[in-house]
Amino acid sequence: MTSNQGGLALQCFVCSTVNPPDGQTCKRCGKPLLDWEEVSESYSVCFTEQGFWDKIDEERINAGIEATRRALVLYYTLTLGNTKMPEWAKGVIVAALGLFVAPNDMIPDKIPRMGYADDSAVLTVATQILEMYISPEASMRADETIAELF
Ligand SMILES: [Zn+2]
Repeated sequence: MTSNQGGLALQCFVCSTVNPPDGQTCKRCGKPLLDWEEVSESYSVCFTEQGFWDKIDEERINAGIEATRRALVLYYTLTLGNTKMPEWAKGVIVAALGLFVAPNDMIPDKIPRMGYADDSAVLTVATQILEMYISPEASMRADETIAELF
């Protein structure tokens, strides 16, 4: 997971509570904490539509069905145009998908069996904190795409 070297307090993206730097989950709302500022700064730029589909196309077997499905759910949540979704939530999706697309992230994706552990963890956290914005339609579209791909 992201290193929090400065030992800075982590602000919960869901409820804005400031949590101690070593916190794993928010002390108020219980959602997992991650240094999204850092993930966003490093990886948001890596996300493009084309890059995303190329990644799915070439790497879905290595990434595995679970991580691929989570990435697709987030992708459809972003692109199906949920007008109620705040900017921070869109930012989390772009950061998580950027990390998924980037070949050299925390654990380089080409490392067999290990390369997608970080991607998978970040996609899982993003899915958990954005639960309220993930529509049944986004989940359904992800399931349809998974059925075509695997
Ligand atoms: Zn919280």
